[in-house]
Amino acid sequence: MMRTITVVGASLAGLSAARALRAQEFAGRIIVLGEETHEPYDRPPLSKEFLAGESPDISLLTTDDKLLDVDWRLGVSAVQLDPSDRSVVLSTGERVQSDGVVLATGARARTLPGRNVHTLRTLDDAIALRSAFASAGSVVVIGAGFIGAEVASTARKLGLDVTVVEALPVPMAGPLGAEMGRICGSLHAANGVRLITGVPVAEIADHLVRLADGIELRADVVVAGVGATPNVSWLAGSGLIIDGGVVTDAKCSTNIPQVVAVGDCASSFNDHAQTVLRQEHWTNALQQPRIAAATLMGRTSVHAARFAVPYFWSDQYGSRLQFAGHRQEGDQVEIVSGAADGPFTAVYRRESRPVAVLSRDEARVFGRWRRELTTVTEGVLS
Ligand code: FAD
Repeated sequence: MMRTITVVGASLAGLSAARALRAQEFAGRIIVLGEETHEPYDRPPLSKEFLAGESPDISLLTTDDKLLDVDWRLGVSAVQLDPSDRSVVLSTGERVQSDGVVLATGARARTLPGRNVHTLRTLDDAIALRSAFASAGSVVVIGAGFIGAEVASTARKLGLDVTVVEALPVPMAGPLGAEMGRICGSLHAANGVRLITGVPVAEIADHLVRLADGIELRADVVVAGVGATPNVSWLAGSGLIIDGGVVTDAKCSTNIPQVVAVGDCASSFNDHAQTVLRQEHWTNALQQPRIAAATLMGRTSVHAARFAVPYFWSDQYGSRLQFAGHRQEGDQVEIVSGAADGPFTAVYRRESRPVAVLSRDEARVFGRWRRELTTVTEGVLS
């Protein structure tokens, strides 16, 4: 009998878990613990409209959410999980014992040594960076991944002189592959941003970035967009299997009964990819908690959310990139609609089977391919 469920992490995945539990008729007590003092807010606008100085509504709480009857505990961290009775120990020393635990602690920005280096993960980070941009003329962005590219794009929109430094030879080659990474990375030069690739940063000293080949870049603002680390160190000693993130099966179950993990902190078996993935994408943090709630509620049928294929979008220089599926080294990629210098859609194939799709500004073509990939997952699960 489930009386109390504790959700650790009060952001998109944590809120989605509370919503899913109520939608699946959990009538007991839900406690949501959150380290940040802010009510749940949306991160994608932080590198886009919000950073550009606009005032998007970033609150995630709807009027319906006020009826969820959740015991919100904000500004308090979980520091330990005791597996014997699923107690969560708080930074205040309090122990919260419950019948089920949802781990939704997300990730934090990786940092680089050096003074005055901005990162962008939280609302407070975004407020600080927005304020720095307001009086700046130039910025160096370290890392040409999605967050780095979006920060560069927004800085350019604000009229700043922007240089992006990427240690790898091709930006975004990990998720997109070298060919598509090169095509998407060309947006930087096309928008007047200098992109330096294949050279790691050797040192950052205040407003100076020194590269391994000796080049020195001076800028008013330095931003590191070098990825994120899952917030799992507080789980050390709990007995949970951690490999990148908290390891779960496709139902979000961890190796401790009635403890599930979701969102950016979870390394979960993915039915579409047929492998373990740690997805750091908004849509996963929204959908995965529905599966986790069904698991805690003891439902045995396959939850519809398991048919969803991995998906993310990124807005850069007025273009929208959308990606669905899972790419592996060795997959063949081909542009099936449009052209590399404008809107296009590219399909990735493995042994002639479509496994992923990437579009730039072709939402309808993308939508058709995404649905086709979903059908492939349905085939795997049925
Ligand atoms: P998080 O949002 O990281 O939330 C985890 C929460 O748990 C945090 O509030 C944290 O403080 C809290 N917490 C951590 N440890 C503890 C603890 N021990 N005790 C209590 N609380 C704890 N995705 C896309 O698909 N498209 C985009 O365009 C896009 N843009 C993005 C732009 C930015 C700037 C960022 C940062 C992310 C973006 N994302 C985007 C990714 C997306 O926002 C994340 O995948 C999503 O926020 C993950 O939600 P989450 O709840 O799993 O984790």
